[in-house]
Amino acid sequence: MRPFEYTRATTVADALSGIAQSESKFLGGGTNLVDLMRMGVEEPARLVDITRVPLTTVEPHGGGVRIGAMVRNSDLAEHPLIRQQYTVLSEALLAGASPQLRNMATTGGNLMQRTRCYYFYDPSYRECNKRHPGSGCAAIPGYNRIHAILGTSPQCIAVHPSDMCVALAALEAVVQVRGPRGERAIPMADFHRLPGTTPQIDTNLRQDEMITAIDLPALPFGRRSHYLKVRDRNSYAFALVSVAAALDLDSGGMIREARIAMGGVAHKPWRVPAAERLLVGRKPEESAFVAAANELVRGAQPRRHNAFKVELARR
Ligand SMILES: Cc1cc2nc3c(=O)[nH]c(=O)nc-3n(C[C@H](O)[C@H](O)[C@H](O)COP(=O)(O)OP(=O)(O)OC[C@H]3O[C@@H](n4cnc5c(N)ncnc54)[C@H](O)[C@@H]3O)c2cc1C
Ligand code: SF4
Repeated sequence: MRPFEYTRATTVADALSGIAQSESKFLGGGTNLVDLMRMGVEEPARLVDITRVPLTTVEPHGGGVRIGAMVRNSDLAEHPLIRQQYTVLSEALLAGASPQLRNMATTGGNLMQRTRCYYFYDPSYRECNKRHPGSGCAAIPGYNRIHAILGTSPQCIAVHPSDMCVALAALEAVVQVRGPRGERAIPMADFHRLPGTTPQIDTNLRQDEMITAIDLPALPFGRRSHYLKVRDRNSYAFALVSVAAALDLDSGGMIREARIAMGGVAHKPWRVPAAERLLVGRKPEESAFVAAANELVRGAQPRRHNAFKVELARR
């Protein structure tokens, strides 16, 4: 591991002045970054530990809820506001990692975690456009069972691995960030990027900005939501395919509004508004769900080892 300097920030201002120095990275729970540093994939010269920055509350905000960026995943999953009003988010968090990891992982760090593509994690493979832009992609001709079927590019077919982010996409969360130019809000749909020709850039967060909070808008039917994750092992494994779904039914039992986001299929949580619209005004019955599911996977481009994901996602 490359030697690095370690500093602690206790305010957002401290954190921003720390990250302004070249080759600096924030350290949250360290559950992803430290692994990447050990593997030689990330080599920051300086870590700015932000775990003491007081952004650790979950509280009502503007009719919805504001989640501080340093809230630990386990605290968020168990928070009464989240369990009662945003069931899908609590379930998604509890489907991720292990209790020990969730006790360390922060909300901001979860948003920023990097893909689990085997070739990205192994610097002995020279070909990875995410690690070395322009070097190629070992996964396209290689073993690509866990890779994306939607929104891929000839440069990269990696998926975003987070469960939490899939629920946040369905809930239309907004990421609050602060940087040297002030504050800005990034809707979840725009936070993560598709790989395109720049797969080395995962998100639209700038290098000198810090995530401070996530806002969940009011969603009265958030309690009628569910997260379903399919994986190779029933615990302690990343999603092959997952779905966060919420349905609002009117008094006659017809669908008034629907939210569906999928994980494990793309470089970002995958949401298709046209698929959700297909459900509106329909009875919650198989034919409606089949139509929406077909729309969700429209244009899927499976690779040699992951064609099963298309049918799995549809189901
Ligand atoms: C064995 C294992 C199994 C796992 N299984 C799952 C799983 O099933 N599902 C799942 O969703 N996740 C899983 N994870 C991933 C885990 O959820 C993430 O590692 C964790 O959420 C990252 O949070 P952290 O606070 O530890 O981030 P760190 O590792 O500290 O940081 C990650 C990145 O975020 C940046 N960062 C941190 N905070 C901020 C901020 N406030 N603003 C800007 N940048 C910031 C850091 O600079 C770094 O680049 C697993 C991890 C491991 C090791
Ligand atoms: S899929 Fe992306 S992360 Fe994986 S080897 Fe190809 S370029 Fe690298």
